[in-house]
Amino acid sequence: MPNMTDDKQMTAPQITRSQSLVMGNWKMNGSISFNNQLLNEIVAGVVSVSAANMTAQLVVCVPAPYLAQAQGRLAETPVQWGAQDVSVHAKGAYTGEVSASMLTDFGCCWVLVGHSERRTLHAESDELVAQKAQAALSAGLTPVVCVGESLQERDAGLAEAVIKRQLAPVLALGPDAVKRMVVAYEPVWAIGTGRTASAQQAQDIHAVIRRLLPSSDHTPVLYGGSVKPDNAKTLFAMPDIDGGLIGGASLVATDFLAIASQ
Ligand code: PEP
Repeated sequence: MPNMTDDKQMTAPQITRSQSLVMGNWKMNGSISFNNQLLNEIVAGVVSVSAANMTAQLVVCVPAPYLAQAQGRLAETPVQWGAQDVSVHAKGAYTGEVSASMLTDFGCCWVLVGHSERRTLHAESDELVAQKAQAALSAGLTPVVCVGESLQERDAGLAEAVIKRQLAPVLALGPDAVKRMVVAYEPVWAIGTGRTASAQQAQDIHAVIRRLLPSSDHTPVLYGGSVKPDNAKTLFAMPDIDGGLIGGASLVATDFLAIASQ
């Protein structure tokens, strides 16, 4: 569970960096039977691995229709579950949208906002992503704010500037809000491509992000982008990398567990 500290204005807890966090993003993959097997394998693996080898908090972010399935299988286990997106609206005539309170109805504690696939395919702006983060916080959910530059932006020397621009409206929500979030740095050129950022490339951007954040104890910053069992250890050893957001490898229980055991 996220470490809870004071909680006066918002219901979402403050998140500390004391425990590493490994989150799976299933994207639009899965079926009842596939998920059943995957969740069973993840839970069995977590339970069988000794506490010394599995110090990370595991979370799976599943497609919205499978939240009830995740809740049914994962409640009473150490594995938590979350969603991949949330509406900025609380309720009403917003066909196809899912509100933050609907996510909490299914026991979610976490929700991704601003994944690059949503920014690109659904034209989500930096401001909208910040509004989604606020909607999540107000319902008691921990938003995982995804940021990252494209290859073109990196090649033009704009990586830092892009990250700062993407984070600006999120940081404007204020330090109290930001302490209740997670940031995930996911260079777009490394997502689903098999091409990962080197540990040093990732660390450099994580250090930039860390300097923007209000507290060195809160707001874990995760790395995402083709994290696999064979590169997770080097990435997670970097001082400003607090865990990972895992796409493809989170659909294979042995890989997800191996990453989380690094
Ligand atoms: C992601 O979708 O958030 C991601 C990091 O994907 P992958 O691990 O497959 O690159």
